[in-house]
Amino acid sequence: MDLMEKIVSLCKRRGFIYQGSEIYGGYGGFWDYGPLGTELKNNIKREWWKSMVYGREDVVGVDASIIMNPKVWEVSGHTTNFTDPLVECKICHKRFRADSEESIASHEKEHDGKNDWTEPKTFNLLTEVFLGVIEPKEKAYLRGEITQGVFVNFRNVVDSTRVKIPFGIAQIGKAFRNEITPGNFTFRSREFEQMELEYFIKPDEKEGKKTFEYWKEERIKWYVSLGMNKAKLRFRDHEPGKRAHYAKVATDIEYDAPFDWSEFEGIHHRGDYDLGNHKLTYKDEAGEEYTPWVIETSGGVDRATLFFLIDSYNEDGDRVVLKLHPKLAPVKVAVFPLLANKEALVKKAREVYLRLKLRLNSVAWDDRGNIGKRYFAQDEIGTPWCVTVDFTTLEDDTVTVRDRDTAKQVRVPIDKLIAYFEKKLS
Ligand code: ATP
Repeated sequence: MDLMEKIVSLCKRRGFIYQGSEIYGGYGGFWDYGPLGTELKNNIKREWWKSMVYGREDVVGVDASIIMNPKVWEVSGHTTNFTDPLVECKICHKRFRADSEESIASHEKEHDGKNDWTEPKTFNLLTEVFLGVIEPKEKAYLRGEITQGVFVNFRNVVDSTRVKIPFGIAQIGKAFRNEITPGNFTFRSREFEQMELEYFIKPDEKEGKKTFEYWKEERIKWYVSLGMNKAKLRFRDHEPGKRAHYAKVATDIEYDAPFDWSEFEGIHHRGDYDLGNHKLTYKDEAGEEYTPWVIETSGGVDRATLFFLIDSYNEDGDRVVLKLHPKLAPVKVAVFPLLANKEALVKKAREVYLRLKLRLNSVAWDDRGNIGKRYFAQDEIGTPWCVTVDFTTLEDDTVTVRDRDTAKQVRVPIDKLIAYFEKKLS
């Protein structure tokens, strides 16, 4: 099995990610997060919000709607420019992204190397929806990026809060793209989540460059601070002809994924493209009015989740260990009674479990099999610490805490356990 197959299988077996609508054969480009995947994804979003909003004085958050007045997408340029090149195989009529050399080459193999393709034509990625009760129903779009929801609220935020340029607006939410070739597990989905910051500055070339460089470094540092291997990360600048329609300068943060170096966050200098299109301006305290420039950091929650999973995957013989950062680990602590058939041990272990759960929330209970099997099961989902209540506990109120990464065990008094874990998680 290659690494991707192992990750996909682990995700399904342990409840991280399932195929969407699986009992009906799935649905291309849609995925469901199971109990552990939901925790992991929520932890990533929470850490992002902590760092981008709570950790700063110059950023506020919004949560805009997914469907907006269709005019937004005309003005933003998406109805005309949000496209990928599409080609069709004339032999079997399957359609592919013309710039996806890998899928084109693999498709040609299906026809024994024969190839006969249509000329590339542009294909719009916006997902259409139809609303209202009068026929023909009104055509609207599911948002193709969450960004526009920030721009259309720019005036509202300035008027209703105390923000002053330079400042940022952060948002996390779903976006939808009618991708021609969804694939590589959740990497290219048709429904996904983004976590974005739009940072507004006074128009100035030097300031724009400085802010762009600042956010590039901040964003890569954030991934590394949560345990991502720096050697697997790189920036890739967009060449002038290949930038999105809104970008003055753009760079991607890429991860060295098993399927290739792949983008999971974009840093874009959008200049005054968006606020200019929406005819939105800003008046500073001196009365000077201008259209601010925007530096954007646009991360994919699902791609980050996938890359954190891949990055943390380790094998030690037949033992799998997900070395997730404790802040991201879906379960923080697992509690076991040494023996499941000794009432005094189970009772004491339940007390410890409930006490920890009240404070740390995501705490697991396991009394199946032997201790070795329980460690094995917890390592595979990345639980950083396992607590065992044994016979010594009944004498001196201490428990064994076993560390996932070092496999070392220490004894900790029960009444110091919460402080012990909170310190490690802080
Ligand atoms: P790609 O070139 O891979 O199609 P993009 O350059 O169009 O991506 P952006 O428009 O910059 O992507 O979107 C910002 C982020 O949103 C991406 O870095 C990615 O993490 C996420 N994203 C975009 N499209 C998808 C998708 N189809 N599935 C999952 N995440 C996505």
